[in-house]
Amino acid sequence: MAPARIRLLSETLVNRIAAGEVIERPAAVVKELVENALDAGARRIAVAIAEGGIARIAVADDGAGIAAEDLPLAVARHATSKLGDEQLIRITTLGFRGEALPSIGAAGRLCITSRPEAADHATTIRVEGGRVFAPIPAAGPPGTEVVVRDLFFATPARRKFLKSPRSEAEAAETVARRLALAAPGVGFRFESDGRVVFDRAGESLAARIAALFGAGAAENLLPLAAERGEMRLSGFAGAAHLSRANAALQHFIVNQRPVTDPVLRTALRVAYRDVIPAGRHPVAALILDLPAEEVDVNVHPAKTELRFRDPAGVRALVIGALRAALAMPAGTLPPPRFDAPRFDATRFGSTADAASPASAPSAMRFAETLLPLAAPPAARQITPAAGAPAADAPEYPLGAAVAQVLDTYILALAGDGALVVVDQHAAHERLTQERLACEWAAGGVRAQPLLLPAVVELTPAEAERVLAQAEALARLGLEIEAFGPQAVLVRALPAALGAPEPGPLLRDIADELGESGTEAALTARLDAVLARLACHGSIRAGRRLQAAEMDALLREMEATPRAATCSHGRPTFIRLRRAEIERLFGRR
Ligand code: ADP
Ligand code: MG
Repeated sequence: MAPARIRLLSETLVNRIAAGEVIERPAAVVKELVENALDAGARRIAVAIAEGGIARIAVADDGAGIAAEDLPLAVARHATSKLGDEQLIRITTLGFRGEALPSIGAAGRLCITSRPEAADHATTIRVEGGRVFAPIPAAGPPGTEVVVRDLFFATPARRKFLKSPRSEAEAAETVARRLALAAPGVGFRFESDGRVVFDRAGESLAARIAALFGAGAAENLLPLAAERGEMRLSGFAGAAHLSRANAALQHFIVNQRPVTDPVLRTALRVAYRDVIPAGRHPVAALILDLPAEEVDVNVHPAKTELRFRDPAGVRALVIGALRAALAMPAGTLPPPRFDAPRFDATRFGSTADAASPASAPSAMRFAETLLPLAAPPAARQITPAAGAPAADAPEYPLGAAVAQVLDTYILALAGDGALVVVDQHAAHERLTQERLACEWAAGGVRAQPLLLPAVVELTPAEAERVLAQAEALARLGLEIEAFGPQAVLVRALPAALGAPEPGPLLRDIADELGESGTEAALTARLDAVLARLACHGSIRAGRRLQAAEMDALLREMEATPRAATCSHGRPTFIRLRRAEIERLFGRR
């Protein structure tokens, strides 16, 4: 067979191929255009999208503008005003590859109107599906407006991969928030289908953070400030209890560039490891500034990945600063601690006879958490159980309930004299999860129809996510129907949950689904979904229990697999051996 002839690709085709890398979806166009505006020194940027950006994206700025004679170059491939550095070592602008505008022009209909301050009128250039039109004079203020219409009309293969306008709008909004956070001094407005999502004047980083993360959260954001050599870290660490089911509220900004970087992500995870449950994600904005030559941003066309020259140094800086922030004194913000697993709470019956050196300090910390018992009875109630001496139940590893304290913990005494403390909510949560899992395995979770269907308001994106999974959710005992664009109707809930609040339950499920997407993914994440459901059916901490209920819970725990830890990986009970109690009191 004769070899196929080799030919150079046409410019249009090259641009279309590049478009696939640089602008995989409307959010990426928003990112490129806003970055251009920031590079042009804009003090104010306005972004407006329609139909998730698929129909239209407009980005206007008051930056330096583009000279009329440079407009054809701006839309030509590999043409940039930014790269003075042939070695790609000191890159100080967000853009430098000169491929965003030609890529956008190849995939959609691009129209740039720009006017440098000194020019007396603006000029417009159009590019449609790679076809460049001659520039024409236009009216317009100093600065640049870029409008993109019918994105991917010229590349239908790409268009097919777009999600719904709502998800695309959500993604574009996330990108805009990240950039607004990266440049707090720049006025920033974001509008979607005519609705103003945010509109901020130039402001301090703290003010921008508070605005973009919601005012309610502001007091839970611990400021970061640390240095190491020429690196500086700022931003904030979210308090541990703000942790989320996904990483959407994590922002990493390096030299004013929003990035997704594994070094920073891992450092964040490590720093929070002891204070939030496994599987949860902290809320944080890490803002790192370091000399440009210390970091390589030319790793990926979208420039969201980077490579540090000294990753270990970056890691140490980030972990050190986060740990310091999270260790703020109690009273300012008590970070929840989960020392107990090291206390051998996850094993029934047997703890080592002599406490190891490692377990003694955690026992001390555990003792501290019991201190409130010494407070006046008015503040801390102790509910005695119906008197069940330890000798009555020598055969039960978790013993017999003797009291409920703080309406949250069950105190029980085991036959060997060990004191058992059970977190009633954590324990019940796991029992409920295992019950749901059993029902699922037996053909489907039993549903309890609601007497009156409940209307639950959701964001349009959340509604779409849960409705897309309606069939799978029905097998989980959760029956829902569409009810307008911002609500769903709940007809039945899993019977094992008792009478949970439908609203928080559904929002939590939507949150969980936010990370997967397909029916297959839901079953793959079944355990996590069941755990979420179980949270809503559990005995809340703060509920007074009768003695019989407490004992029933202990017996069920002894009979249920995995009942020694809750679905978040925390222990459901702690067992203090008699010898350990004696050691705490210095009797040994
Ligand atoms: P890059 O940003 O990598 O240089 P682009 O394709 O994004 O590549 O832009 C090409 C050039 O167009 C830029 O180098 C810049 O000179 C000019 N440009 C693009 N957008 C703007 C803007 N909003 N204001 C001023 N100049 C711009
Ligand atoms: Mg650019």
